[in-house]
Amino acid sequence: QRNEYKAQYNILDEAAIFYQDQLKTHAHRDQAVAYLKSRGLTGQIAKIFGVGYAPPGWDNLLKKIGGTPTNLELLEKSGMLIRHEEKDSLYDRFRERIIFPIRDMRGRVIAFGGRVLGDDKPKYLNSPETDTFHKSRELYGLYEARKLSQKLERIIIVEGYMDVISLAQFGITYAVATLGTATTTQHLERLFKTVPEIIFCFDGDNAGRKAAERALETTLPVIKDGQEARFLFLPEGEDPDTLVRSESKQGFEKHLDEALPLSEFFFRSLAEDTDMTTMDGQARFSNKALPLIHQMQTSLLQQMMLDRICKVTGLSLEQINSTINLTQSTPE
Ligand code: ATP
Ligand code: MN
Ligand code: MN
Ligand code: MN
Repeated sequence: QRNEYKAQYNILDEAAIFYQDQLKTHAHRDQAVAYLKSRGLTGQIAKIFGVGYAPPGWDNLLKKIGGTPTNLELLEKSGMLIRHEEKDSLYDRFRERIIFPIRDMRGRVIAFGGRVLGDDKPKYLNSPETDTFHKSRELYGLYEARKLSQKLERIIIVEGYMDVISLAQFGITYAVATLGTATTTQHLERLFKTVPEIIFCFDGDNAGRKAAERALETTLPVIKDGQEARFLFLPEGEDPDTLVRSESKQGFEKHLDEALPLSEFFFRSLAEDTDMTTMDGQARFSNKALPLIHQMQTSLLQQMMLDRICKVTGLSLEQINSTINLTQSTPE
């Protein structure tokens, strides 16, 4: 069964080598190198992450690797070539972009991300879902993080490729990125198998704050005793890449150490826009909080969060539990 995909892994590996090679040899490589320099990347870190360059043109990869019908089929299956339906011909998906190979936990290349060199749209392009690439499971940088650190104690979840790479360049070698999707239960389970602590660190913008709220809701049912999740909110307009560049390793790690514990973020975000000095506000707050706490694994943290609601409302745990049960047993 593993063998079924062996050829596909091999061809993606070949593609990764091709793009890396283009960054060194292509006639237009200067543009790509200049772009990477302008982003502050060193050659060393680019090499560790296998950063490459897809030159302009519709058939560079196709010509280089697609020499046989089998290879063409494999390249199309893995999303590297796109079929033009009318002309019934194939062309390269990634053109004139900086290329980030996405590796699985075992280090095999399973997909690519590509960034334009300027301000064109779309800024990023990713491989599509394939038999060997499932966005809801894979995390960019996890393989590299495990390789770069002797022992991982915590992992930061960020939004983008450049965040992961910049952080690593500055010595924070334990960041991973989701691949254009929200953080999933599967992501979290995989990470908690690797480390006891996860820190979410999304961009300091509206999209980033929304992502954090969603991550909170995904984490609540997953987290167990002995595990910790925290949230780092960056200053407006910053992302991990820009912040680590301006504040360096120490500065960034100071922010990490001050990240909000899950329970703090939970109560803070639920109490937002609610007047907690009134009974009505407290009831509204509790009605939002209780079903979410109820989804949690039985844990000390869950107990303590229930306790906090008791303090806020002045109700006893029994009163609260009977309210939860009542809500549960009431048909919709
Ligand atoms: P950069 O610093 O290179 O400008 P970024 O990583 O800060 O990019 P964001 O706009 O913050 O970019 O987006 C975060 C991540 O979301 C990207 O790294 C990429 O994985 C994904 N993404 C962004 N724009 C797109 C897009 N148009 N299509 C698919 N994925 C995207
Ligand atoms: Mn953003
Ligand atoms: Mn960025
Ligand atoms: Mn960003």
